[in-house]
Amino acid sequence: MPTTKYNFKKIEQKWQKKWEEKKIFEVKENPKRKKFYELDMFPYPSGAGLHMGHAFVFSLGDISARFKRMQGFNVLYPVGYDSLGLPAENAAIKAGTNPKDYTENAIKNFMKQQKAMGWSYDWSRMIKSHDSSYYKWDQWIFLKMLEKGLAYRKRAPVNWCPKCQTVLANEQVINGKCWRHEDTNVEIKHLEQWFFKITEYADELLNGLDKLDWPENAKKLQRNWIGKSYGTEIDFDIEGEKWPIFTTRPDTIFGVTFMVISAYHPRLFELVKKKQKEQVENFLKRLKSVSEKELEEIGKEGVFTGSYAINPINGEKIPVYAGNFVVADYGSGMVMAVPAHDQRDFEFAKKYKLPIKQVISGENIKEKAYERAGILINSGDFNGLLSDEAKEHITKALEFKKLGRKKVQYKLRDWLISRQRYWGTPIPIVYCEKCGIVPVTEKELPIKLPEKVKFGKGNPLASAKKWIKTKCPKCGRNGRRETDTMDTFVNSSWYYLRYVDNKNEKKIFDKKKANYWCPINQYIGGPEHITMHLIYIRFYTKFLKDLGLLKFDEPALRYFTQGIVHGSDGEKMSKSKGNVAEPFDIINKYGADTLRLALVSFASPDKDTTWDEKVVLGSHKFLNKVLDYFSECKFGKADKKIESKLNKLIKGIILDIENFKHNLAVIKIRQLFDAISESKIDRKTAESFLKMLHVFCPHITEELWHKLGNKNFLSLEKWPEVEEKKINEQFEKEEKIIEETLNDVNNVINIIKNKGKSVSKLYIYVLPNELGIYTNNLDSIGKKTNLNTKVYSVADKSKYDPENKSRKVKPGKPGIYLE
Ligand SMILES: [Zn+2]
Ligand SMILES: [Zn+2]
Repeated sequence: MPTTKYNFKKIEQKWQKKWEEKKIFEVKENPKRKKFYELDMFPYPSGAGLHMGHAFVFSLGDISARFKRMQGFNVLYPVGYDSLGLPAENAAIKAGTNPKDYTENAIKNFMKQQKAMGWSYDWSRMIKSHDSSYYKWDQWIFLKMLEKGLAYRKRAPVNWCPKCQTVLANEQVINGKCWRHEDTNVEIKHLEQWFFKITEYADELLNGLDKLDWPENAKKLQRNWIGKSYGTEIDFDIEGEKWPIFTTRPDTIFGVTFMVISAYHPRLFELVKKKQKEQVENFLKRLKSVSEKELEEIGKEGVFTGSYAINPINGEKIPVYAGNFVVADYGSGMVMAVPAHDQRDFEFAKKYKLPIKQVISGENIKEKAYERAGILINSGDFNGLLSDEAKEHITKALEFKKLGRKKVQYKLRDWLISRQRYWGTPIPIVYCEKCGIVPVTEKELPIKLPEKVKFGKGNPLASAKKWIKTKCPKCGRNGRRETDTMDTFVNSSWYYLRYVDNKNEKKIFDKKKANYWCPINQYIGGPEHITMHLIYIRFYTKFLKDLGLLKFDEPALRYFTQGIVHGSDGEKMSKSKGNVAEPFDIINKYGADTLRLALVSFASPDKDTTWDEKVVLGSHKFLNKVLDYFSECKFGKADKKIESKLNKLIKGIILDIENFKHNLAVIKIRQLFDAISESKIDRKTAESFLKMLHVFCPHITEELWHKLGNKNFLSLEKWPEVEEKKINEQFEKEEKIIEETLNDVNNVINIIKNKGKSVSKLYIYVLPNELGIYTNNLDSIGKKTNLNTKVYSVADKSKYDPENKSRKVKPGKPGIYLE
């Protein structure tokens, strides 16, 4: 049992204060030193403070940062706050205060808690995205995008969340629901909005993935999100106008029996005939009123528009339907339906009794569509061709008639950045009565958010009359400011670059500094960001490289996604379930070192885990034992066995930390502690132990390091080196044999005890060549079993062996006799 009082509060506060006073984690660029840029995803400073997910992910970041620092790298490990955004605005309104005060208070509280965790940030580089000195550069990037034709304004069908009271980007709509409101259906509205032309970078975004050290799953999600597909664009004549339609299956063109235009298509009503108008309008009303769930139940729905299309390959006249299952802004928002060879079209055709015409031979299509390739039938001159050949030939035939062409299509949409909310970056645009859309000049930046606004209905900026009224930057006439703000994902799309030069007032950042520190070597954050933030940050990086500001085009070379820490009942932590473990409570009860150690002990950090108070207690006891041990340990000469063990463990621990198997590293550190607390050790071994434990538990180890008489900070010490020649595999083998023998002995003891007998003597019979291993370890076997122990070689004629246990002895498997 631990005997020393573990005054973790005193120890932790003492070292946090000293680290901060001496600014030991502040860094400068130094071309002579190898850099390492460690970054955890930009946190939103929630008013509720740190939750366990934060404590976990930032501890992982800190372990990496401390580890790389000790390995000799010049480590940049900054922190800042993604402090603009709807949650802060809503929370402020609820609390009856303004978002700025609310956010500043939240940040103060957040920082206090972060400091209490002992994370080794370079605080001098802090950024807050709601500072106009920061969002000035969001506006600057907007102007650059505009200049390069990558920012544009367009009327388009957009996703509107009635709860957020703003439009959302495509990336923020998950299965038809708002990403913030899992229970709220997104509505489609037609509005004039600002977009960033991220599609211009679709191929670069796709190809760049190959060279990244990211989880395969993350890369796959991005590839699917970008969704590149090769196909043919075919012009269908609809009521005298050409409509280009994209398909990946031109080989099925003879099987087209109807067309489907998206019910949300902005030009839908151009195709609706008078007689059908009422029906179409009723259909649209119905779509609006049904919930997503009901929509799933009713399945593919549609209504005839009254218009017909002409199939360019055979001149057939086919009806055009409006349907709920076609995306308005994918391709042309209309598809050619081939019910025989597309399951979705098949279901639609069955429902509305439309013809189904098989044109690819294969399975019977009575029950369901045949979607695979095959040989063409019912396809005129193309009969007998294989699907792949037919795709080529049919496309060529259409090209010849100038009615078709090969085309590459992407699922990726342009990024809708307009938001009808207050707490975001103002878009630097003026609408002039004469000139129209006019960008603000760079000199006028930042366009600051007005502080006095009214919250209530709608966008508070729209009613900030004084702020809106301005002069046109071009002609000086009356103009009005854009009242939409930018999606807050713009703030997190380049923040990592501002850390390298956060106080620069003249430039977004210094090129040299950015090219020294960046890209990020290790980026850590949750998988929910893969198709949002991680697409945007890659896009911005590529754009800034094209502006000539960067020499690299990927923001993060390596990316790690941590698992989720669930409540002790295995459920998601939530106040209503009463299963929330708060980091600050745990720090107060057991200390930050204990919490840090426990968080990486539950399971492998990439896996979801369950909060377990027992593990926390176990971690706390372990640290107390370490404290006990160092308060009275005396050093001697190096024990070769310990040295061998130490070096082997150092090697393993390095690999474990590099591979985010921290749970395994912790097991090894505990093994080393068991070994050193059982035998005499030298000072170097003891210090190496502290160094390795340090990255997980920085405070207690810093304290003990100084107790040993060291003057420098352990945080800045060198990681112990592996001395290969000191690793003796023989020792390891012997240890394993002894361990197994002890297990066997304990099993036999249990059997005897269960019979109600007691034992006091242990006899071990071994092969002559193994006798040395056992005589060397006789003391420790005796101590561990609490038995009077003797060992004999099987060849020893004078041995005591009443039950002839020496007969069955095998290599590594001794005979055991107890009495
Ligand atoms: Zn919402
Ligand atoms: Zn003007």
